[in-house]
Amino acid sequence: MPHPSVLPGKIEALPRSQIRRIMALAAEMDDVVHLEVGEPAEGTRAEIIRDAMEAALNGATKYVPNAGSPALRKLIAERISDRNRVAVDPGRVVATTGAVGALFTAMSLVVEPGEEVLLPDPGWTNYQSMVLFAGATFRTYPLYPERGFEPDPEEIEALIGPKTRAILVNSPGNPTGAVWRAPCIDRVAEIARARNLHVISDEIYEEMTFDADHVSFMGRDIDDRLWVVSGFSKSFAMTGWRIGWLVAPAHSVESAIALQEPTVSCISAVSQAAAIAALSKYPQTPGELAAIYRRRRDILVEELAGSGLIAARPAGAFYCLIDITRTGMSSMEAALDLLEKKKVAAVPGGSFGPRSDRYLRLAFTTSDDRLKTGCRRILEWVSER
Ligand code: PLP
Repeated sequence: MPHPSVLPGKIEALPRSQIRRIMALAAEMDDVVHLEVGEPAEGTRAEIIRDAMEAALNGATKYVPNAGSPALRKLIAERISDRNRVAVDPGRVVATTGAVGALFTAMSLVVEPGEEVLLPDPGWTNYQSMVLFAGATFRTYPLYPERGFEPDPEEIEALIGPKTRAILVNSPGNPTGAVWRAPCIDRVAEIARARNLHVISDEIYEEMTFDADHVSFMGRDIDDRLWVVSGFSKSFAMTGWRIGWLVAPAHSVESAIALQEPTVSCISAVSQAAAIAALSKYPQTPGELAAIYRRRRDILVEELAGSGLIAARPAGAFYCLIDITRTGMSSMEAALDLLEKKKVAAVPGGSFGPRSDRYLRLAFTTSDDRLKTGCRRILEWVSER
């Protein structure tokens, strides 16, 4: 008997991050240096876990409001208002299932089938999937290593066509480690306003900056078209709790909340308790984590200094792209070879966009010692090619 088909074509069309193949192979080997994993090795702070357990024992085991509790929305609004020196009304904040939930909500509300979104290249693979799943298409705008992986805003403007509805931006960036500066952000905001486009700003790495502060898209007079995405995964090392947030334009926040109901209902009550504890009792956590990543960024830059491999010195997040053009390999070939010969797992750049096959992404989330070992193995690998 034939069975009914499942979303014909829709799932097959989604790009899969090439990281899966590398992770599967690495899992079967010993002594691998894991530079592929995009999450803090530290894990969630024990006090936050204890507070969440306590809350669960005291009844935080039930549904919460679609937008998250008023207490959590208020704490999030206070945090981002303080950080970005803008006044954010808690009514514009929706607590979501990770930053992914916030991105999915924004993308679903902003584009219709047949429309178009502008995405960064190199950029996080899931942006492409979300656009395609919404039935829309994307064009990519280049991020230049020689500009510290900032875009040229005029190039973004030149890509805008009659079907373009939104520009997606991500600073600090995955996989680039770039932190865009104010002039670039101001200009992109200005273009979005002039051309009547939405801006979806993924600021999930906002607290992971090393040289200069993060600049938000907030406070640039585009609040009526700005969707800011962030969360607890990276700043508080809480990836598995699945909790993030969306700051929506005031006129669309009810739609964003309404969309939670049939998709996820609400965030988990235990995660909400953990998030409240994180913001109200341990607000210093992101700064402590950022100090660890700054140190690891310095180790990586020092170890690879002089090799010419680093595409641009990472200023934020916890990634560094290395340019493997000289090996003459595709990024997948290079990642497989590096794993096989030197037992270092890295992510092939090919899945970050059409111009990114010359890169491997290294995540400096592992311990200082393993990071040093990984860098030395990479140098050996390159010299033997
Ligand atoms: N945005 C970017 C750029 C990311 O790198 C990630 C995770 O790696 C996410 C969003 C997803 O964050 P979350 O785990 O909170 O859904």
